[in-house]
Amino acid sequence: MERLQKVIAQAGIASRRQAEKLIVQGKVTVNGQIVKELGTKVSAADKVEVNGIPLVEEEKKYFLFYKPRGVISAVKDDKNRKVVTDFFDGIEERVYPVGRLDYDTSGLLLLSNDGEFTQLMTHPKYEMNKTYIAKVKGIPARETLKKLERGVLLEDGKTAPAKVKFLSGDKNKNSAIIEITIHEGKNRQVRRMFDAVGHPVLKLKRERLAFLDLKGLNAGDFRELTPHEVKKLK
Ligand code: URA
Repeated sequence: MERLQKVIAQAGIASRRQAEKLIVQGKVTVNGQIVKELGTKVSAADKVEVNGIPLVEEEKKYFLFYKPRGVISAVKDDKNRKVVTDFFDGIEERVYPVGRLDYDTSGLLLLSNDGEFTQLMTHPKYEMNKTYIAKVKGIPARETLKKLERGVLLEDGKTAPAKVKFLSGDKNKNSAIIEITIHEGKNRQVRRMFDAVGHPVLKLKRERLAFLDLKGLNAGDFRELTPHEVKKLK
């Protein structure tokens, strides 16, 4: 989200000061409504018009990012922690995360400036497989993994069937590595699922999203999606 005057200035229509004047004078609309409030924040999904003329649209961009742990899936943080868009400083377009990964979760996250794409991808009906590698406390029994597959009861309902694969266990360290594929996107879902069966997650990484993976990327790297990949996601 950016301040309206900044968005207008960035579109090259007016200086920041002139943009403020235009706003106060009632010349600016956001999604068809006149906005006179200078602090108003807008995202790339909002339609901004000045004197009835839409700001020229930015080219639509789609990035696949390998989010490191310890980074917020947002464009700004109150506590000044690192945010995902800090990694995109060299990119002209105002991209923002498509969905989110927890602060402590690493892995595949898409960023874009395409509001419609974001809405589609984050809609609950859009059932895209998401595969996570979880390091969990303890070594889950086969029956426990079956439970996760069938669905476990969380406070916001039962989870849909998942795919669960035991990758390895370490008796000395009392931990195991489990691959889990879900297609829902409840808040902190994977962590809560493992909590529900008594094996808290120690480390979590999103390895795949639909047909996309992290091949060739290190934490903090990103690449642009190909037009073919974007089309396939839609
Ligand atoms: N599930 C979680 O618990 N955390 C994430 O970041 C993503 C899925």
